[in-house]
Amino acid sequence: MNMDQEQLRLLPSVDELLQSHTGQQLIHQYSRAMALRAVRTSIAQARAQIRNGAPRPSSEELLMAAEHMLELLQRPNLRLVINATGVIINTNLGRAPLSQEALQAVQRVAGGYSNLEYALEAGERGSRHAHVAALLCELTGAEAALVTNNNAAAVLLALSALAAGREVVISRGQLVEIGGGFRVPDVMRQSGCQLVEVGTTNRTRLSDYQAAINERTALLLSVHPSNFQITGFTESTPLSAMAELAHQHGLLLMDDLGSGCLLASERYGLGHEPMPQESIAAGADVVCFSGDKLLGGPQAGVLLGNAEALERIARHPLMRAVRIDKMTLAALEATLRHYQRDEAETHIPIWRMISASPAKIASRATSWTAKLQQHGIKARPQHGESTIGGGSLPGDTLPTTLLALDAGDVPMPLDELAKRLRLRSTPIIVRILRGKLLLDPRTVLEEQDKELLQALMEELWEESGLPQKITAQNER
Ligand SMILES: *Cc1c(COP(=O)(O)O)cnc(C)c1O
Repeated sequence: MNMDQEQLRLLPSVDELLQSHTGQQLIHQYSRAMALRAVRTSIAQARAQIRNGAPRPSSEELLMAAEHMLELLQRPNLRLVINATGVIINTNLGRAPLSQEALQAVQRVAGGYSNLEYALEAGERGSRHAHVAALLCELTGAEAALVTNNNAAAVLLALSALAAGREVVISRGQLVEIGGGFRVPDVMRQSGCQLVEVGTTNRTRLSDYQAAINERTALLLSVHPSNFQITGFTESTPLSAMAELAHQHGLLLMDDLGSGCLLASERYGLGHEPMPQESIAAGADVVCFSGDKLLGGPQAGVLLGNAEALERIARHPLMRAVRIDKMTLAALEATLRHYQRDEAETHIPIWRMISASPAKIASRATSWTAKLQQHGIKARPQHGESTIGGGSLPGDTLPTTLLALDAGDVPMPLDELAKRLRLRSTPIIVRILRGKLLLDPRTVLEEQDKELLQALMEELWEESGLPQKITAQNER
């Protein structure tokens, strides 16, 4: 007891620590108040530990602990992560990474004033939609276009404007839940229209739609079942036949595509994802999709279609509630320009990932393996599959080469390693499957390779007791 008291007495004072060189640096970097609080906490923790029988830390150790606390406090909550899951459009991880050009566009526009709603030629109020409408029409053949905050908003807005108080006919096979609480029947109810389900889960014919049409019907709705597949004895009605039927009865046809795939997905060894330009050509009056799924841009909703229908949508009061932000608009325009210049495959990150050659991915996995093995870490390349994710092309996969760490070759349980990787200052998200921790190079941006390998070495070195390299990055 007396010895503890002696140790407690020997602890430096708050003032002493703050007067030191490191203490002064902390004040300079974080403010006096923050440094003071951290140093106090550090000393209080040391006191508690000494009472529990721990040795007295040195002044340097106390300051290091304070610095560590301050670093954690300063760490942004929303931050960059490394996606090694092989799921290209990962909703939990923020969906599509933006292209360099899109990022620069955001930076240019957001740091100053812009002509967001100002028509420069006329010198008067303009429309924010004008910045992308012509581009969208050029790329898809649509007559008119509008943009919203996301596709869920686009669906809600369009149904509210075109069908509130009236009936909307939809196939039972398309009453889908997208995830994150977006259920098509709920959104339809919220928009004030009445849902009329036709057909069965696996088969809906044109005659089913026809039989449901009456004087209360406003539109026929097609929803792309984007996150599941029904296979076997199935039948769905082609969009062009639905358009013809709708128009014969003076009704509208709306197509919620979900993904917004402007490139032919079958060129990349995938199934065919329906494209907005196909829906327009088939005669849909309103087509909507997300900006951050296969379009590869920012979170946004795109509405395309005939000028009259879109005019009605634009005038609805909800339009103001779901309007797109200027930073999003800048990123969306830059993303669309990649398609206009026919460079989407090489410039838009998700299309670079989709089109990455198997040989190139294999060579990255092999080079990761070699670097880890040089440091005594047992890893091997292994064949596997990447997925598109984000409610696009369900069931479709791309062959890939993974880096695999076997449970038996790692000095801790795999979920412990996965957790440590997640808790780094740049978190790394991985997959664990059948006793292996798997990392897919396809979704790791090339400039992140070095950091990823460094992280694995640090986490595995520390545990195996080999000399570790402490870096400021290695925060937990
Ligand atoms: C993803 C999806 C939505 C929702 O789009 P968000 O941009 O996420 O709001 C709506 N409908 C379908 C068919 C989808 O796949």
